[in-house]
Amino acid sequence: TSHKETHSFQTEVSQLLHLMIHALYSNKEIFLRELISNAADACDKLRFEALSDDALMEGQAELAIDIQFDPEAKTLSITDNGIGMNREEVLANIGTIARSGTREFLTKLTGDQKKDAHLIGQFGVGFYSGFIVADKVTLTTRRAGMGAEHGVRWTSDGSGEFEIETLERSQRGTQVVLHLKKDAEEFLDEWRLRQIITRYSDHISLPIRMPKRDDKGEEMGEWETVNRASALWTRSKSDISDEEYHEFYKHVAHDFENPLAWTHHRVEGRQEYTSLLYIPRRAPFDLWDRERRQGIKLYVQRVFIMEETEQLMPTYLRFVRGVIDSADLPLNISREILQSNRLIDGMRSGSVKKILGLLADMAKNQPEQYAEFWEAFGRVLKEGPAEDHANQEQIAQLLRFASTHSGEAKQDVSLEDYVARMSKDQDCIYYITADSHAAASNSPHLEVFRKRGIEVLLLSDRVDEWLVAHLTEFQGKKLKSVAKGDLDLGKLDSEDEKKAQQEAEEQAKDLLPRLKNALEQQVEDVRFSHRLTDSPACIVLSEHDMALYMQQLLKQAGQ
Ligand code: ADP
Ligand code: MG
Repeated sequence: TSHKETHSFQTEVSQLLHLMIHALYSNKEIFLRELISNAADACDKLRFEALSDDALMEGQAELAIDIQFDPEAKTLSITDNGIGMNREEVLANIGTIARSGTREFLTKLTGDQKKDAHLIGQFGVGFYSGFIVADKVTLTTRRAGMGAEHGVRWTSDGSGEFEIETLERSQRGTQVVLHLKKDAEEFLDEWRLRQIITRYSDHISLPIRMPKRDDKGEEMGEWETVNRASALWTRSKSDISDEEYHEFYKHVAHDFENPLAWTHHRVEGRQEYTSLLYIPRRAPFDLWDRERRQGIKLYVQRVFIMEETEQLMPTYLRFVRGVIDSADLPLNISREILQSNRLIDGMRSGSVKKILGLLADMAKNQPEQYAEFWEAFGRVLKEGPAEDHANQEQIAQLLRFASTHSGEAKQDVSLEDYVARMSKDQDCIYYITADSHAAASNSPHLEVFRKRGIEVLLLSDRVDEWLVAHLTEFQGKKLKSVAKGDLDLGKLDSEDEKKAQQEAEEQAKDLLPRLKNALEQQVEDVRFSHRLTDSPACIVLSEHDMALYMQQLLKQAGQ
């Protein structure tokens, strides 16, 4: 039985599809990049699974992606002999279930087509991009290693429903057939297709083939490889254009936009590996999601092994995307080995150094680009000093804060800037934490600092409290909260001032015991303070108390 069923797309998927088609119509050709990218991923997966189960290759180990068009039928097909999908996988991957970010994504749409096209890009376009050029898409597939009777066909016109049926398919892998719309017939042209493949998919390491044609345009029954078909990262840097780096990024990161920066290195010596690591331009939707997509692809001698960020990149650099290709690891490496492997650790610490170096370089030489990076990923990088003690100083140099120097909410002051502006009598770096920039910059704790012209860092990200708990010093200067403990400005107080303070305390000495009495239930102690200039009083935490708003956070969380 063919077991034919009709399913509805999940509402979000339908909405997304509709939007995509209308927002991306001016850049139709990217559908081919997306479908080739999927075909290449499917071949990578098969190669990996076949390492432990050779039978999956079914005696046909040469992997390729074939592109074919039929001018009469007005169809274009993309065929791979990769891993394929079974019925459950087809249902799970295309159609019913939207990715976790979809709903959130839809709430961010503005209605402005240009902006939305960017957003869609950020979300990743993927399989559905076929509907930009086709009014009907058929996907036929069979999972490697399963019998021919387990073939599956998925068909849809993209409007709201799709059909799925079981059929015989002797060929392993997936074929996507696009029934092109009237205004997409330009893609029934050999040269147009070659041009797109060279432009977007030259870096794919498998052969992308097209049928050879004779003078009359008839297929000759032979295939010709159209792309360069060598893994991009194995080529020498001088031989790779920025465009090629960009396109490769889009493939590995499933992103639609160009990356912000990258670093490409071959390491030789005790250990041999190549890394090509990218910093994206924008935060992905799942940056704060525990089940986020992994970011670093591990290869061994150009064979894709797995996508495994955790072992290869610390959490505070989870936005990094790219590949690491080891020459030394065994091909049959398991996840267990990954977790405690000297070579993996070496590649990880080497890669972290490369990324921190890349960022330091950007901060120094391309401050505007760095500001863009900070906007997108600063809050993630702030987790670094707590997670990575070995690189704490280097990470600290990359941090940016708002401060009373400009008073703006924009985080653009480095600790180095701050230290350079300190007077010779100041020996601490002062900061205040609050749950918003406005609350920080309007705090009465700042009065005396303003009066004396002492700069204070204004910290209002959730992660900041965590940051200052671990980053206690920078270049030998202690970081000190202006809201905690006794305020001792040390050398910053002149003798005259100290004298004036003593006199003021003497005059008001009867006030303290009365206040203490009245507030006995509410506070631990009442003290004179010289940190205020306009406000009569303020609440101060003792040195070791958790900051007030951290307490509030815990309370909200029911602790
Ligand atoms: P992404 O590639 O970013 O995961 P896509 O929308 O492009 O998103 O594809 C969705 C999923 O469908 C893929 O993750 C994969 O599991 C499956 N898929 C798509 N094309 C193929 C293919 N040619 N062979 C096997 N699986 C595929
Ligand atoms: Mg894809």
